[in-house]
Amino acid sequence: MTKTKGFAIAIDGPVGVGKSTTARLVAQKLGMIYIDTGAMYRAVAYYNMKQKIDLTNSTKLAESMKKIHIALTHISGEQRVYLNGEDITNEIRTQEISNNTSVVAAHKTVREHLVAQQEKMAETGKIVMDGRDIGSQVLPWAQVKIYLDAAIETRAARRQADLEAKGQEAIYACILEETKIRDHRDKTRQISPLVQAPDAIYIDNSNLTTEEVAEQIVSHANTALNKI
Ligand code: C5P
Repeated sequence: MTKTKGFAIAIDGPVGVGKSTTARLVAQKLGMIYIDTGAMYRAVAYYNMKQKIDLTNSTKLAESMKKIHIALTHISGEQRVYLNGEDITNEIRTQEISNNTSVVAAHKTVREHLVAQQEKMAETGKIVMDGRDIGSQVLPWAQVKIYLDAAIETRAARRQADLEAKGQEAIYACILEETKIRDHRDKTRQISPLVQAPDAIYIDNSNLTTEEVAEQIVSHANTALNKI
């Protein structure tokens, strides 16, 4: 069924490629709302970990979805994530949550719930939405689709630099291994794996700054907006 549409830029790509930073900058430049769908999957992982639910148990995860209410708010370009009324924006950014989220995200019921919510968010207005399946599954009608990519070694090195900048311990070999595992889960799961949509524009950002990538996307978006 064709959904009601607004204007959407879908940005997909693998772990640690810089989707969020890029998408936020694009949204800021174009005066659009940025929606980080990864945060929604992280919120589901956070809830179930707190409840000590086995993250591989589909039945339990499906039950938990009835008790989970996720709300995203957007103030001055910043997204905050609420789980049943509690602000968990910072809590969902740990390495443990990152690793467990790709397990939770492989479950059908979890995806059905969150995708339905994401489709609703995109019904009106102008949005930049990032994730793994936005161009391929969630918003197949998006006027602009971007698949952002970089070599896994580049992504792991960036992650290491980010953690070190925050004063956290960061061992390259461990980060590379975790990135490989998350990539593998995201690309090989049965439901909505990470794929480049056939009509998505491929951008390898290995040798580009966030500003340069954002400018490229803004230029594609302006072309699409001029056609409306
Ligand atoms: O983008 P982020 O790293 O925050 O996403 C965390 C995890 O959530 C991903 O590794 C992926 O397993 C899952 N995810 C997903 N589909 C999306 C967004 C995120 O499966 N649209």
